[in-house]
Amino acid sequence: MTLRIYNTLSNSIEEFHPIQEGKVKMFVCGPTVYDDPHLGHARTYSFFDVLVRFLKFSGYEVFYVMNVTDVGHLTEEGEDKIIKRAGSLGKHPMEIADYYLWRFLEAMDKLRIARPSMMPRATGHIPEIIEQVSTLINKGYAYISNGSVYFDVSKFKDYGKLSHKKIEELLPGARVEINPEKKDPRDFALWIKAEKSHIMKWNSPWSVGYPGWHIEDTAIALKYLGSQYDIHGGGIDLVFPHHEAEIAQAEATTGIKPYVKYWIHTGFLTIRGEKMAKSLGNFIVIFDLLEKYRAEAIRLYLSSTHFRKPLDFDEKELDRAENRINDLVNNILAIDDAIKDGGGNSSDISFVYDLKNKFVDAMEDNMNTPLALQVFFKLLENLASKSSGITLNKLIEAKQETTKLSDIFQIVPKESTIVLSEEILSILIEIRNKLRAMGNYQLADEIREKLKNVGIALEDTKSGTKWKIVRG
Ligand SMILES: [Zn+2]
Repeated sequence: MTLRIYNTLSNSIEEFHPIQEGKVKMFVCGPTVYDDPHLGHARTYSFFDVLVRFLKFSGYEVFYVMNVTDVGHLTEEGEDKIIKRAGSLGKHPMEIADYYLWRFLEAMDKLRIARPSMMPRATGHIPEIIEQVSTLINKGYAYISNGSVYFDVSKFKDYGKLSHKKIEELLPGARVEINPEKKDPRDFALWIKAEKSHIMKWNSPWSVGYPGWHIEDTAIALKYLGSQYDIHGGGIDLVFPHHEAEIAQAEATTGIKPYVKYWIHTGFLTIRGEKMAKSLGNFIVIFDLLEKYRAEAIRLYLSSTHFRKPLDFDEKELDRAENRINDLVNNILAIDDAIKDGGGNSSDISFVYDLKNKFVDAMEDNMNTPLALQVFFKLLENLASKSSGITLNKLIEAKQETTKLSDIFQIVPKESTIVLSEEILSILIEIRNKLRAMGNYQLADEIREKLKNVGIALEDTKSGTKWKIVRG
């Protein structure tokens, strides 16, 4: 079977066939680095991580580009978010951009979201941006107005094909101020002439200025992915105007259609029914969530809702995910025990492959991750309960098969056994200290000796008993 996935461009589920056989080229809109990453980032990037891992599992090679917006992302009020943040902290915008890029990477690493093949930054591609803007002017798709450059949407007949709207319906939001430099309010900025006080600005044929938000994506994508590629991803809120503008820029520049074969968007995220926003006090930062929940539980929680469905944040569901991770760890420990014990006599593990096939079917059915996870948990549970009866070779084979599936979701805690050991160790240390307090030094010493025999040395210090692993 083949992966079938919903394509926003055709508004339907399509069979996935990359342009080049066996190789997938993908671009996902990266972060605007001016603040700590939030749950919305976690949702989008964890989904695309699952997609990449599943494509690789299916035998594809994946080249994955994520841009970093470190300049020029305008808020509705026309301010650059990074410069605004830098101003409020009295720092250089580049220092802010660097700091928050590192924070973004740290959060993604903690969530076990694999890094893309490359993460080009907007500020590193100003010559490419200027070149693309020049091409658009030369081809008649863009015009210069008072040092700024705008894309003329009336010249691009397909404008609206991604959001499935007629051009008349695509008026920008009511909050946008009327800009007298534009011929039409729907036109969008490719290059913006900088105010004197603006810090991040570059020379261009039109003015000393900085790029518009949409142009960086296509300048970067055309450079590294070419004039046509397979997947462009992002949150559903980016469909208009951002991705609509990208299609217009790229197809007007190259004349090649379609710019992207599959447009894949993750659904809305709400917090108790409301949009997540700092002003509403319901803003969920990934680092805060990681204080309360294991990364694996967060990943499980996020993958338990279909990527296109709206996700309403619910802590109860995260608690449930934590419990499911505990069950998962217990099942893995049971399988590991059976492996240690040498297994049993049955060589029939056909149920593993039957369920694996069901898992793959669910994933290929428009990335039905909730169903795939259900199948995975059933598989693991079955394997754990049957493990002592299965021959060692088959048991190891079965475990490897389940690991391939869980790796797609990154839901098995890496240090589960170590964390458990640490907890048991602290109980032993506590009991030993109680024994010493009671004067039972013989039994206390026995505990210390036995731990030493398995490679754990205890040391009594003024601040309590410490332990370390000793070899040999
Ligand atoms: Zn983007």
